[in-house]
Amino acid sequence: ISKEKGGNVPQFFNESMRNRFQERLLIENALREAVEKGCFELFYQPKTGAGKVTSMEALLRWQDPVLGFVSPSTFIPIAEEIGLILQIDEWSLVQACRQNKRWHDQGLKRIPISANLSAKHFQQDYLVSMIEKVLDESGMAPEYLKLEITESVFINNPKHVAEVIHKLKSLGVLISIDDFGKGYSSLYQLLQLPIDEIKIDRQFIKDIDHNEKKALLVASILDIARGLQLNVVAEGVETEKEKDLLVQMGCDELQGYLFSRPINEKHMVKFLSVEDKSVANSF
Ligand code: C2E
Ligand code: MG
Ligand code: MG
Ligand code: MG
Repeated sequence: ISKEKGGNVPQFFNESMRNRFQERLLIENALREAVEKGCFELFYQPKTGAGKVTSMEALLRWQDPVLGFVSPSTFIPIAEEIGLILQIDEWSLVQACRQNKRWHDQGLKRIPISANLSAKHFQQDYLVSMIEKVLDESGMAPEYLKLEITESVFINNPKHVAEVIHKLKSLGVLISIDDFGKGYSSLYQLLQLPIDEIKIDRQFIKDIDHNEKKALLVASILDIARGLQLNVVAEGVETEKEKDLLVQMGCDELQGYLFSRPINEKHMVKFLSVEDKSVANSF
């Protein structure tokens, strides 16, 4: 409504807003169709420790026939808003568990697999039974499944979230705090909850080799984590120098483009085929 047309309010819905709105609608509709038709693929990003692949993270990939590749950082928040995230995460979990079991059945080296869980699940009652069902139906060994949750889950109803985490732990799965340090501080949760791992957010890792404050902070996080017997993963390791410093500091596992980008199943198999294959020549 513009003043020229007799409205009292100034024009608020301009061209660029219209475009963004239309793009958003386009993604929403395509996302609904992708969920119905199962147009996703699961990729895997290796994590390394002492020069070997020690675990992996499952990451969703969506290639839409019209929109092309859409990044999870774009479509996951939309899926959360329009209520599709529960189905999407369940799909990822089922694939991750089936794949881990299949690799094991094929006699390949078994390493833990991490799956991302949206904070939205913690507002639902069915999360624990859903995980239980997925473990059951896939025949997955729970001790090889790690659930990555972000600190944002603790913002709403931390008491309820704590209960859910205890129930999840009783299923035998592992719990990891993703993007640690990025959001709502959870030092208190670390003390209170049966958490197995923290993943230090990439913002603290990037350029750590020439940022003394970052190095100090990460060293302190590692100190606390050691005391609490938590596994520590550094996210987004891109350079040799970052790697060297993190290894020297005693970080348990490293994840980042330096070793490997997220890759499809066929490429992941190569990391699992030889028991002690070194990743030294993979980058
Ligand atoms: P995340 O869980 O923190 O995953 C790590 C992200 O960092 C991935 O982005 C990965 O490709 C990227 N990354 C890894 N190494 C490096 C590096 O060295 N440098 C840089 N710049 N980036 C690196 P991706 O795959 O685009 O996923 C983005 C986010 O989308 C994930 O962040 C996660 O929060 C979410 N996501 C992905 N798959 C799922 C899923 O199945 N369910 C849910 N709920 N969220 C998912
Ligand atoms: Mg993650
Ligand atoms: Mg992360
Ligand atoms: Mg991160």
